[in-house]
Amino acid sequence: MSAMSEPSTMMRAALLENFGTLTIADVPVPEPATGEVLVKVLACGLCGTDLKIVRGSFEGTWPPQLPFIIGHEWSGQVAALGPGTERSGLAVGDRVVAENHAGCGSCPMCRQGRYNLCERVRDPGFKLYGHTAPGALAQYAVRPAIVLHKLPDEVSDEAGALINQAALTVHAGRRVELTPGSTVAVFGPGLLGLLMTQVALASGATTVIMVGRGPRLQTAIELGSTYVVDYEQAEPIAEIRGLTGGRGVDYVFDCSGNPDVVGQLLRSVRRGGKVALLGLTGGAVAQLPLDLLALDEIDVLGIRSSPNAYPATIQMFARRLIRTEPLTREIYSLDNVADAFVALQQRTAIRPIVVM
Ligand SMILES: [Zn+2]
Ligand SMILES: [Zn+2]
Repeated sequence: MSAMSEPSTMMRAALLENFGTLTIADVPVPEPATGEVLVKVLACGLCGTDLKIVRGSFEGTWPPQLPFIIGHEWSGQVAALGPGTERSGLAVGDRVVAENHAGCGSCPMCRQGRYNLCERVRDPGFKLYGHTAPGALAQYAVRPAIVLHKLPDEVSDEAGALINQAALTVHAGRRVELTPGSTVAVFGPGLLGLLMTQVALASGATTVIMVGRGPRLQTAIELGSTYVVDYEQAEPIAEIRGLTGGRGVDYVFDCSGNPDVVGQLLRSVRRGGKVALLGLTGGAVAQLPLDLLALDEIDVLGIRSSPNAYPATIQMFARRLIRTEPLTREIYSLDNVADAFVALQQRTAIRPIVVM
């Protein structure tokens, strides 16, 4: 079926009916309500959060109930406009990517433009797509027009599925106010770290050091890392200090989500430097060297979602300031979604992408 044609009333979806496994099932195509758009899904990436949701790690919250459709890193094509979206700037056939939620629009944080911190995010009924409202691991999804952004021809469907994570790294770069000529360390060569590296370089960083292990360090070099540190071979703090004349880097981005590296993050940054935390640790608690934080005036910044970052990120993809080829090689069909999860779990794929 072409995206231009009228959608059928049923669609295929990877349904979470019981924790631990997804079932491919036929379910009704959702109807766009006022302000919403029906989108035919083209490609949907799977991440560690999806893995945890399927396992039931957030049972009762993400999702609030079963059955449920996961998937929040995706691209699609507008299939139908719901009532009240005539002036959204969207048309049937447009390829789009979607933010995970629209803020309520009226709380103090939303009114400051920081809708990633919407104060109603935990209210019952708040739609965090793929978490508390239906995601995109299905042939169709509905979204408010306001969360959709058009994808130019230069960005492929599969690359579009990486925009969600790349926008998080753009937000991180903005939060630390990354300046040209700066030195950077990135911990964790997963998708987030490999995107963060490129955003740092595109923002003018002249030294970008990746800390990690395994073959992904090679991918980091391929994507522009100036140095890589294999923590199984060398001590990261000493290496980073050695590469920066003993000072430490201006900015550290933690994309590892590993609570055990907090001490390393704080000792890798220079006096007055900034440490941004992008990865979630699953509720872990870490020990902090408080005197070091105080005496070196180190700023530690939490990074959540990607407010106002999609348009810039899409342009960075289109202009190839962020390259995606090594990151979009693991493609699965919806029928083979189980294999995609195995690849994710066993870390054989940087980002498994399901095409519909
Ligand atoms: Zn994700
Ligand atoms: Zn709000």
